[in-house]
Amino acid sequence: MKIGINGCGIAGPALAYWLKRFGHEPVLFEKAPAPRAGGYVIDFWGLGYDLAQRMGILGPIVERGYAMRRLKMVEADGREVASLAVEPIRETLGGRFISVARADVAAALLGACQDVVVHFGTSIVGFHEDAGEITAALSDGGHERFDLVIGADGLHSRIRAVGFGDDPRHERALGCHVAAFRLEHYPHQDELTYVSHTEPKRQVARMTLRDGETLVLLICRSELLDGELVRTNVKGALQRAFAGMRWEVPDIIARMAGVDELYFDSVNQVRLDTWSRGRVALVGDAAACVSFLAGEGTGLAMIEAYVLAGELHRAGNDWSRGLEQYAARLRVFLRDKQRSALKLRGFFVPQTGFGLALRNLLVNAFALPFVAKQLVGRSVRDELELPDYEKD
Ligand SMILES: Cc1cc2nc3c(=O)[nH]c(=O)nc-3n(C[C@H](O)[C@H](O)[C@H](O)COP(=O)(O)OP(=O)(O)OC[C@H]3O[C@@H](n4cnc5c(N)ncnc54)[C@H](O)[C@@H]3O)c2cc1C
Repeated sequence: MKIGINGCGIAGPALAYWLKRFGHEPVLFEKAPAPRAGGYVIDFWGLGYDLAQRMGILGPIVERGYAMRRLKMVEADGREVASLAVEPIRETLGGRFISVARADVAAALLGACQDVVVHFGTSIVGFHEDAGEITAALSDGGHERFDLVIGADGLHSRIRAVGFGDDPRHERALGCHVAAFRLEHYPHQDELTYVSHTEPKRQVARMTLRDGETLVLLICRSELLDGELVRTNVKGALQRAFAGMRWEVPDIIARMAGVDELYFDSVNQVRLDTWSRGRVALVGDAAACVSFLAGEGTGLAMIEAYVLAGELHRAGNDWSRGLEQYAARLRVFLRDKQRSALKLRGFFVPQTGFGLALRNLLVNAFALPFVAKQLVGRSVRDELELPDYEKD
């Protein structure tokens, strides 16, 4: 089958790779003019990690990644108030846990897509389905015929809006916003340690990267943001939301003014009753975004891509059955991941001082290896068995 895929982030190239391997003809479309570099860093583990190994791309991911050692929470004066060692988590996962720029995972996935046609700077903006195929309208004014069109175009998917209706209920806002950016030559360095300072409703965290860069994350409850200002001046809205915070925050916020690339978005989950309609289907964040709170969206997007390609392969000519089986296999697993993510909102941005104190107590309890292995192990393991579609 010839399959048009909108979006070349994580799910898009992962899907293209497996479709190609199963004998199909995927074509990728990406609205950005070129692959992105830099950006935020993700924690990568679980079945997504295993799939990366099967795809032969684990080497470059691990090489570009960071084997983080510690999560350190500090008071306004920089004093440590709680800390969590990453090693017990890594041990629970058999050493298969790495932090790496999302862009580096995307680049490794795309690099594995040998002989797949990729159109950067071009999107699928609409489609028309008739008896035997679907015709995609492209942003450059052209048209292309496919057997299926897949939306792998992220949280605010265009394919979802066109194919499933632009229904605000599909994207559920979780009441927080997140911003991420990189600073050069930031004076405070803590190797392989996430350092964060939290006050009720807001958190600022930093991570020392290679080449003199530092990644900064700003997370806040959405009510702290002036909606009008967000529309016209995101940095201004962030300045206001984080005003009055101590620790390194005034310096970080001042440096943000000189940053060119700033990621800023509402923290949302995507919930749909169905992931396909006719010859159109969704994968990755477009289908079932768990939100950054889950810390696993990348691996999950890779799992979804593998299962979608595998079920289409298994179903032979009956693509409609393949699409049904794809959803049937993953729906409950992803709903559970979404539920678990909701519980972590209070961990990142507690509402009250009491909640913050409780969070710090909990983090310190994780310092006990037994507790860490039991609790963390249970929440990070993927309770899903992936079929071996290559044996079919
Ligand atoms: C701050 C932050 C921290 C995170 N931390 C983690 C973590 O620790 N671990 C983890 O696993 N995950 C994490 N995630 C989530 C993870 O990044 C996503 O779940 C993952 O990237 C989803 O992959 P995707 O391919 O579905 O979407 P994306 O990675 O968003 O890719 C979508 C692609 O589609 C393109 N696109 C968008 N619209 C169009 C269009 N109209 N036409 C064509 N192309 C289009 C985009 O440019 C992009 O390239 C985090 C997310 C954020 C925001």
